[in-house]
Amino acid sequence: MNGSMVSQKSATESSLKDAEPDYEVVVIGAGVGGIYQIKRLTDLGVNATVLEGDADLGGTWYRNRYPGARFDSESFTYGYSWDQEVLDEWHWKEMFSPQPETLKYLNFVADKFGLREHMQFNCHVEKMIFDENGCTWSLYLKDGREITSRFVMTAIGLLSVPTLPRIDGIDDYAGEAFHTFNWPKDPIDLKGKRVAVIGTGATAIQLIPEVAKEAEHLTIFQRRANWAAPLNNSEISEKEMAEIRDRYDEIFATCARTPGGFEHEPDRRGFYSVPEEERRELWDRLYDGPGFGIWLQNFVEIFMDEDANAEFSEYIAERIRGRVDDPVLAEKLIPKDHGFGIQRVPLETNYFETYNRDNVSFVDGSEQPIQRITESGIETSENHYEFDVIVYATGFDAFTGAFDKIDIRGVDGQSLREKWAEGPVTYLGLLVNGFPNLLMISGPQTAATNFPRGAELAVNWATELLEHVWSSGNGRIEATAAGEQSWFDHVMKMYEPFLLRKAQSWITGYNSNLDGHEYGKTRYNIYNGGGPKYADRLQQEAQDGYEGIDIG
Ligand code: NAP
Repeated sequence: MNGSMVSQKSATESSLKDAEPDYEVVVIGAGVGGIYQIKRLTDLGVNATVLEGDADLGGTWYRNRYPGARFDSESFTYGYSWDQEVLDEWHWKEMFSPQPETLKYLNFVADKFGLREHMQFNCHVEKMIFDENGCTWSLYLKDGREITSRFVMTAIGLLSVPTLPRIDGIDDYAGEAFHTFNWPKDPIDLKGKRVAVIGTGATAIQLIPEVAKEAEHLTIFQRRANWAAPLNNSEISEKEMAEIRDRYDEIFATCARTPGGFEHEPDRRGFYSVPEEERRELWDRLYDGPGFGIWLQNFVEIFMDEDANAEFSEYIAERIRGRVDDPVLAEKLIPKDHGFGIQRVPLETNYFETYNRDNVSFVDGSEQPIQRITESGIETSENHYEFDVIVYATGFDAFTGAFDKIDIRGVDGQSLREKWAEGPVTYLGLLVNGFPNLLMISGPQTAATNFPRGAELAVNWATELLEHVWSSGNGRIEATAAGEQSWFDHVMKMYEPFLLRKAQSWITGYNSNLDGHEYGKTRYNIYNGGGPKYADRLQQEAQDGYEGIDIG
């Protein structure tokens, strides 16, 4: 029995007033974060379980099965860093792993460590109530069960609640229709079908070229143009994988040092100190290189300075013009209302060339907005289009949506949904005042980074906090109101220098399909200081004895 298990018992003995809870820790969600969290807890011998709403593990990679789904992180920067055997054994087959391969990877990791036995599937948590007397959470499941736990850790994703468009008649449609997040598990045959895709975000931009290859005809409904740049994916040979394995220490060290948690390091030479010709040479190289280089290896001024951003956006516009045959259509695909990189940049493979195909049509929502969905298709202000399949690539109730789906009641019955009605407020993105013994993995207001890099950081920090609590014979943690306010003020301040503060995007809480998410009502969803500063802040908090957290 290890030390923390002993301390867990003493914590329990000293603070438990009522009956022993079913678990010391319940983790909600068996995705990238939840898998690692249960690994850490079971290694410590803690009585813990994962409750997962889906029928199997994988989270995002279990759900997003649409054709073309893959991540935009170099695969070897996306995998877990914490086990040498996993690093030695797993062969990433592509630079940017497609969904089936990533799901296989998560299963490989879970099975290797026997984690599945600590997971319960098809468990939808509908309600959670904190009981101050017992200092425990009661979790109420859709299947009628009630489970009690001293601590709850959420790993419920930031893009896990899809939103359908608020368009009249959506239920009238008689053909096949689904949100990309709910793409059927059994592949659907699009051959010979007339397909509509609504939306041109990162999801649609991956999906559209794949659907166009298969469908008889594809019609894309764009409301606002979105910037995108090439992914430049490639296969990873055995030899290349061996080289990557030799570099893993260096790779993860670089990810820990860069703001975005990638190998891409920002160019800090100064936009205006580099002659225009050299700037363009850099951009040529980045545009033709893999992944987020074009975004994250760029001059830092791109993100803050309107003029620098405008010059770079015009460069990207020229590249788009060079890829779309019809110049009038090319202009419609080039955003005029925001600069490149202000919203999350989608990466694409032949997205712009897809518009050159004979079986692809484009409907510009600024000229003919969608008015209703009918029994047989989509009606705009100008036309009626008939379809066999309608795909909604219309985004998510980001960051807080998954929390809002659970009725979470903290001290004195306070509702988290109500507390966050105008946007999330947290302490370090990990705790919330008024909601004791609740820890969030990759919750709102954490650094926006390559997802697993941030999730590992959060899991490690949260686990160490729990070890500290257990070893000091305590059983209750709660962020202080003052700590929460100071973190929120800092998060808000970190939006100021960045042009993204103006973005009409889920990062700032915009979603036209949700009340209270109108453009201009900024929700401070992310910490903009970057991974290293965020990691330093977490480390400081632990070193200072968790000053912003009441431990009792
Ligand atoms: P999104 O970026 O929010 O895009 C939603 C799209 O749907 C937008 O084009 C939006 O138009 C359109 N839309 C929404 N409601 C509409 C309506 N009522 N009528 C017409 N159009 C409507 O969502 P997403 O593409 O699913 O991407 C979300 C995030 O998921 C990404 O930014 C990314 O972080 C993540 N993601 C990652 C990957 C990856 O790692 N490779 C892949 C896919 C997604 P407007 O622009 O006008 O609002």
